Amino acid sequence: MLPGPNYVYKCPRCGNLLTVGSILSGNTIGAKIYSDGKRIAPMLPDFPDLTKCKKCETIFWLNILRKIGRYEWGDKMNSKWAKADDADFLDIEDYFRALDDNVAENAAIIYSMMGCCKASEVNFRDWLVYFLDNVHHYDNDYTMDLAELLPHHLAEQTKKEYPTQIRELSKFSEHLGETLKDGLIIIV
Ligand SMILES: [Zn+2]
Repeated sequence: MLPGPNYVYKCPRCGNLLTVGSILSGNTIGAKIYSDGKRIAPMLPDFPDLTKCKKCETIFWLNILRKIGRYEWGDKMNSKWAKADDADFLDIEDYFRALDDNVAENAAIIYSMMGCCKASEVNFRDWLVYFLDNVHHYDNDYTMDLAELLPHHLAEQTKKEYPTQIRELSKFSEHLGETLKDGLIIIV
């Protein structure tokens, strides 16, 4: 197993730092797989997506937070980050508590928006930037339609603004598909 960098996150409520490891490569040698799908693989460790701040006990999703730092093992430059709490998996009581507060609802909203982006063939990150750039234009004018911020509207707008580029790109991807089918790989 080859460990990857450690990532640092900040608790959205109290600002306490949490660190999560990663792996560059691993394998399932010696793994135990249980009938409920749980897998414990010593050479392929899992890291939590949903965790709890050890200071204020807030439960939150790591994958919707911004990483505020990264350090490698033995990296002395960022030793303050190495002192951050390890992000652990939740225990069963925590999962019940998560269902009672707004964690599940927030996750459902984010995953729904990711699904809408996929259905509209819009990059989620591009849509999020578009949303954050424009949402405050709607703060004081209730006659404006918030639906304009949804992913399908961004897709329509992009098609209107860049019709030539989109046509050319789709022609290029068709051509690339044909070329790859012929077994010819072009490295640019
Ligand atoms: Zn906290």
